[in-house]
Amino acid sequence: QVQYVKNPHLDRMEEDILYHFNLGTKTHNLPAMFGDIKFVCVGGSANRMRAFAQFMHQELGQPGHVDDIRDICEETDRYSMFKVGPVLSVSHGMGAPSISIMLHELIKLLYHSRCRDVILFRIGTSGGIGLAPGTVVITDKAVDSFFRPQFEQVVLGKVIVRSRRCQSWMRACPKSFCSVPRNCLTSPLLLPTPCAHMTSMKVNRHILQKAWRSISILCAILLSFVLVWYFLAASDAPSSSSAGQGRLDGALCSFSTEEKLEYLRKAHEADVRNIEMESTVFAAMCRMCNLKAAVICVTLLNRFEGDQISTHHDVLVEYQQRPQGLVAHFIKKRLGLMA
Ligand code: URA
Repeated sequence: QVQYVKNPHLDRMEEDILYHFNLGTKTHNLPAMFGDIKFVCVGGSANRMRAFAQFMHQELGQPGHVDDIRDICEETDRYSMFKVGPVLSVSHGMGAPSISIMLHELIKLLYHSRCRDVILFRIGTSGGIGLAPGTVVITDKAVDSFFRPQFEQVVLGKVIVRSRRCQSWMRACPKSFCSVPRNCLTSPLLLPTPCAHMTSMKVNRHILQKAWRSISILCAILLSFVLVWYFLAASDAPSSSSAGQGRLDGALCSFSTEEKLEYLRKAHEADVRNIEMESTVFAAMCRMCNLKAAVICVTLLNRFEGDQISTHHDVLVEYQQRPQGLVAHFIKKRLGLMA
């Protein structure tokens, strides 16, 4: 069995309390509850992850009514978790600290539940760099605010570089994957040179359908070659959504419009196509814990054009369904539910 945790202290603990999930090894039969999990999808908002679970319920043709899918963590208000067959849908809140707390408990949950061959997806939202709102970006490489493909953490007062390797399975993927129409971008970043073909994909319904078809082919290829161990290391995306992402509309701002645009231009030159806050720690932790993982985010705005998200709520809801559709497609292919 692949070892998802790397902590010698865990085996010496009589009980492991997953406090933020309100679950524990003594109070719950975790293998019975979660042992069949094969896909874990995480995203910031509890409501979005509930909607994703309901969507997957329909897509997988699960028995029962969608309204009966209960929040497994309903006793806590930190995170929400929904299980639909082999799919777990979990919210992680906003920013690296929040997703990191959730991931520690999630990875231990998979370990205690004796899960095998699990693939994680972060399906989220982001700011686009030179991309139209609604573009779906598949992260090839996550980088930090200095565009370094690494994830740093302060441990016992020392800065530790958690990983300097940033290839993702997208990066390592065979050529055919890159034939997906120009559109697969990513969160804080992405594709260095060789993969310049993987640019973003403006998602209107037509293109999305074509992308799904391409992605399914690509998934089959990936599954055989690359997904085997997936993503890479990550680095920390900006730690805040205002100054950290070069926004001019925060309560505090110490830079000019020109300085902001200069930073975004540099990011674009470094092949960064979107900015969010969680992909680096997500990729790093998954890699360190031998978990296959991918980040698929939709852009809510083009940061060259502004900082505020002013698009109508209903349109934003539809945008947020786009990464969900891609992941649902992937999961159904993987489960042999579609040709
Ligand atoms: N999420 C982010 O982190 N930044 C944005 O601009 C939009 C969504």
